[in-house]
Amino acid sequence: MRTAVVLLTRDLRVHDHPALATACATAEQVVPLFVLDPRLAGRSANRDRFLHQALADLRAVLRERGGDLVLRHGDPVTETIRLARDVDADGIAVSADVSHYARGRQRRLRDECERHRIAYREFPGLTVVDPAALTPTGGDHYKVFTPYFRAWSAADWRTACAAPDQIRLPDGLAVGRLPALPAGESAQAAAGGETVGRRRLRDWLGNLDRYGDLHDDLPGDATSRLSPYLRFGCLSPLEVAQAAGDRDGPFVRQLCWRDFHYQVAHAFPDLATTAYRRNAKEEWRYDAAALDAWQTGHTGLPIVDAGMRQLLAQGWMHNRARLITAAYLTKELGLDWRAGRAWFDRWLLDGDLPNNSGNWQWVAGTGNDTRPNRRFNPLRQAHRFDPAGDYVRRWLPELAGVPGAAVHEPWQLPLAVRAGLDYPPPLSER
Ligand code: FAD
Repeated sequence: MRTAVVLLTRDLRVHDHPALATACATAEQVVPLFVLDPRLAGRSANRDRFLHQALADLRAVLRERGGDLVLRHGDPVTETIRLARDVDADGIAVSADVSHYARGRQRRLRDECERHRIAYREFPGLTVVDPAALTPTGGDHYKVFTPYFRAWSAADWRTACAAPDQIRLPDGLAVGRLPALPAGESAQAAAGGETVGRRRLRDWLGNLDRYGDLHDDLPGDATSRLSPYLRFGCLSPLEVAQAAGDRDGPFVRQLCWRDFHYQVAHAFPDLATTAYRRNAKEEWRYDAAALDAWQTGHTGLPIVDAGMRQLLAQGWMHNRARLITAAYLTKELGLDWRAGRAWFDRWLLDGDLPNNSGNWQWVAGTGNDTRPNRRFNPLRQAHRFDPAGDYVRRWLPELAGVPGAAVHEPWQLPLAVRAGLDYPPPLSER
């Protein structure tokens, strides 16, 4: 093949990139292309910033290898075909994604390629195991995690691809400018890019042994924080899983949860809007004031407020805090999981359709949990996973002077102490 275009979406890396590696191995000239799609911009200021940083990093990494990142603005299908025709490309490659929008984009691109007689090919790379690769007997996807995990860890995983040494762009191609760096909303948000992601992975692997014991420890903050890099494909999930080694270990098991939700979203594309469980009882309350208190971290329940404030400050929240805050919204306040999902989607650097919607539905009891009526008592969770109250004090400065576990129940403090705190009573007492 003479010229191939690789349309990048959320696979913003050069390591273990099957579409890019194959294009570089089979074509004389390769155009790595990213199209800034106005329909996807502005959903999350945090992710817009992270994306921008990831693109800038990818451009630098590609330039080191003799190539570049070509940027266009507009409808990805129109722009990809336009560019392919400009450079007289004979092939277009893309990493297959699962969302409604992505699949629509892939379908349109394939049709346009057919019309213009350009070869079109989809590649794996967004998950460890392809979302459609594993099916249980008599079904098109796994509905329950444990059997999926068994099949997933026993499956043949593809071999990771080496990063291309050299990339040759067609001569004279205008590469396009990256717009100014968006501001983002969270002051402490992590920075995007493959370079930062790989460094973070390398550093974090040294803590892997402690993960099993500490991953639920809220103040310990001992999880990898790799999720935003996986979300944008700055890291290959396969490479992360292989670097971690033990397929049955607790960390790789969490990566399997990620694949699990992808295969659910692949089979049930309405996961963001529609209850996955057909007979789910959905009787949500409408309470704008309670929703606002939850969103801004002013419910009066410190463990919930701490999680929500972490989200606003960092564009990320510890998984245990996500479980507690989501269960509080849906099961204690009785508010619709879709409102919670939308708020998380606005702030999370790792916010994506399969994981955000799949986890929200799991917590709300409308999704894949085999115990849909499960309840998380937030106070019990607080004492168990933040026994000395350090996580709460870290995120709620107004409670920083309350010592020990007493910080979890400020309503139990003597009235005189309570009166001196700038902290609201629980929603149920207002
Ligand atoms: P680690 O504990 O280090 O885990 C390693 C990787 O495993 C993560 O980076 C992630 O890719 C994957 N992982 C871990 N737990 C889960 C899980 N429960 N489901 C799916 N994948 C998992 N994760 C997202 O990536 N995007 C989301 O939009 C998202 N929304 C969530 C919403 C709710 C209500 C809940 C309860 C969880 C959500 N999660 C989401 C899952 C999980 O909270 C995050 O993946 C995790 O906290 C990321 O931190 P980490 O990278 O330090 O995780």
